[in-house]
Amino acid sequence: MQPPAAGSPLVRFGHCGKAIYCFSVPRSCPLCGLGVGSPKLEDAPTSISSPFADGHRQRCAFLLRPTEGTFLRDYNGSSDLHVGITSTNGIVYNYNEKGVCRDGTGWEQSVSVPLVQPDLYGLLDRWNGYLEEFSATDDWLADRYSEDQHNCYSYALKFINWMLTLEGRQPLKRNEFIEQFVVPKTRKASKFITLYQAIEDHHFYITDHPGRQATPP
Ligand SMILES: [Zn+2]
Repeated sequence: MQPPAAGSPLVRFGHCGKAIYCFSVPRSCPLCGLGVGSPKLEDAPTSISSPFADGHRQRCAFLLRPTEGTFLRDYNGSSDLHVGITSTNGIVYNYNEKGVCRDGTGWEQSVSVPLVQPDLYGLLDRWNGYLEEFSATDDWLADRYSEDQHNCYSYALKFINWMLTLEGRQPLKRNEFIEQFVVPKTRKASKFITLYQAIEDHHFYITDHPGRQATPP
């Protein structure tokens, strides 16, 4: 079976005094070969959901993905990231050297941060119009693009700040935005990717400390 684009969930269980991570709980422990059932609560299997989501199914969200390739296959913790904002119907608005792009595909494995409370109907109704109006300004012409100074982050941040202002809230500074919206998400993603890749290679990833979640997420 093909795993979902956003990645399969992982399972963690305890045996032999270790924490064992895998895609699904095996019949027997890979260390001792005995059955994995255990009366100890801390050994019970727990599911670790993927931090990735299909960006085309997230409405009014901020999305992150690697500029090249995908998180699970290609991300190494410091790869360049590209960011975008979703409409209410699966289109991802993002800014690059070609200007504003409206992507219907390509963001199937993204980190997603919701931007609007689901009960803000007024804002939801106008969201797509705001995105279009914002994207049509001269700020986001292709020739204004600068990889360091005026890039996909500038675009997303300026739009988010416009929405915050409309809600009567304080706009974010660039460093606040990165600390709040980007760093915790990529840190969590990196830990998941490490586990995921190890399990793909070796079927299991085994650590000490079965009683506490020393390893992510
Ligand atoms: Zn065992």
